[in-house]
Amino acid sequence: MLDEFIHEPRVAYFSMEIALRNEIPTYAGGLGILAGDTMRTAADLELPMVAVSLICHAGYFRHEIDAQGRQTEHSATWDIKHWTQPLDAKIAVQIDGRTVWIGAWLYILEGHMGGRQPVLLLDTDLDENSSDDRKISHYLYGGDNVYRLKQEIVLGLGGVRLLHAVGFTIKHYHMNEGHSALLGLELMRRYAYSTEDLRPGESRYDLPLVRDLCSFTTHTPVEAGHDRFSYDLVQRVLDNDFDIETIKRLAGEDSLNMTRLALNLSEYVNGVAKKHAEVSNAMFPGYKVHAITNGVHPFTWSAESFRQLYDHYTPGWRHEQQLLMRADCCIPDVAIWEAHTQAKQHLIEKVQALTGVLLKPDVPIFGFARRMTAYKRPDLLFTDLERLRAIARNQPFQIVFAGKAHPNDESGKHLIEQLHAHARALADSIPVVYLPDYDMALAQLLTAGADVWLNTPLPPLEASGTSGMKAAFNGVPNLSVLDGWWIEGCLEGVTGWAIGDTAGMADGKAQVLYDKLEKVVLPLYFNSDRSGWIRVMKGAISKNASYFNSHRMMRRYATEAYAR
Ligand SMILES: *Cc1c(COP(=O)(O)O)cnc(C)c1O
Repeated sequence: MLDEFIHEPRVAYFSMEIALRNEIPTYAGGLGILAGDTMRTAADLELPMVAVSLICHAGYFRHEIDAQGRQTEHSATWDIKHWTQPLDAKIAVQIDGRTVWIGAWLYILEGHMGGRQPVLLLDTDLDENSSDDRKISHYLYGGDNVYRLKQEIVLGLGGVRLLHAVGFTIKHYHMNEGHSALLGLELMRRYAYSTEDLRPGESRYDLPLVRDLCSFTTHTPVEAGHDRFSYDLVQRVLDNDFDIETIKRLAGEDSLNMTRLALNLSEYVNGVAKKHAEVSNAMFPGYKVHAITNGVHPFTWSAESFRQLYDHYTPGWRHEQQLLMRADCCIPDVAIWEAHTQAKQHLIEKVQALTGVLLKPDVPIFGFARRMTAYKRPDLLFTDLERLRAIARNQPFQIVFAGKAHPNDESGKHLIEQLHAHARALADSIPVVYLPDYDMALAQLLTAGADVWLNTPLPPLEASGTSGMKAAFNGVPNLSVLDGWWIEGCLEGVTGWAIGDTAGMADGKAQVLYDKLEKVVLPLYFNSDRSGWIRVMKGAISKNASYFNSHRMMRRYATEAYAR
């Protein structure tokens, strides 16, 4: 089953979540989408890779939202046997003093250009294990800190052992976020000197060798966001074969900080946008954090109407997105508008099917969809409802929201309720709908069918953001706070619009957003000559999509991180 993959050395890509396809709910948000786009591009470019993640029997959750906006969660079990094949190999790790067996399922990612990449989804739900241990691979981001550490042992230690057990030759390891950093400990042990060779006081571990094998991408611009485990917990749960003093030197004296561990065990470290790398360099003095700005997979995130448009006017774009830089001159305005009208119609139909609300095709739609959590500030637009009504009186617009709040994120859940309250309050003047169960398919419809893609995070907390890049592939301009990728992507009035300057908006004043909407964005949309608006749509394609794609991103990882 694995024969076609194990004959050449591969880069192992470790991620706690991965968005392989809409039917496989093993992702929660942008981190998983990035992992999926990474592997989709690896398939297109035929970069030999293998992804390692967890099987997540219960998926990330699905939710129901009642009229008040209250979210209730259901598990998102999926048809594992239909989409994957079980591998025979099993390996064991020590967890909590017990032997826990780990197996894996193979998913073969088939790219749209014929490339194939293996994905191993680790599973502890085996007869050999106790009922508690069988659940370690059930929930994505579920449970407490103890559960998380157990999952990270399975992912990091278990992942490396399983790759070797099934016969892969791994030439490089890429940790997508710190969750998988324990893989570095497994490599330390695997490549340790034998004790007979050591002189007194010498370390068993060949750290330079381990570092050469590893790259680390950090995603979290605040210290509090990094996984940490107390050494009491670590000593209880982790295999005591590991010398705790060595771990403390690598992962922090006070607690095991997964980001520190990854930093200390990786030669190449990067942030996911230029600003994020700067913030990370300030947070971790003494380390060199490079910048490889994220990108999205071109084919996956382009609506059918735009794929056809690009195939016709910029052939070759599926492999070389730089060709899209010609879009602003080569694609006729009417063709762009027609492709957009189709994508918008698909969204309008979906909104009607899900909510019963019929949006108007000739009124602009603002799209806002992402994980619902406080720093994303989905409610910023509703700071002053009177002002918003006044704007809509002369220049109408409609708003579509979507997004899940993590079950333990009370403020995220509260935000969904508030959005529903605002929608009710505005019912007489501005149509506002909230779509449940935001997933890959809905993200594709929304980022293509909206007229403006709105993003109002609290800087500098948006490490990169990727949904706005999906919008760009569909000629949808961004209206966003300058944070993450948008600092690099925004050319004012050319690719979209900034809300405030790089220093502004941290205090949450919505006035600049209202001013920009009222005086710049909506007048351009409603101008009797549509060519000004279409020029910005083309700017998004030619200057954003041509660059913020995962093919450019992976060419950089391949040359700067993997092939050092
Ligand atoms: C792209 C995507 C995200 C990431 O959105 P951001 O705005 O970058 O946070 C999250 N969830 C899904 C389902 C997506 O497709």
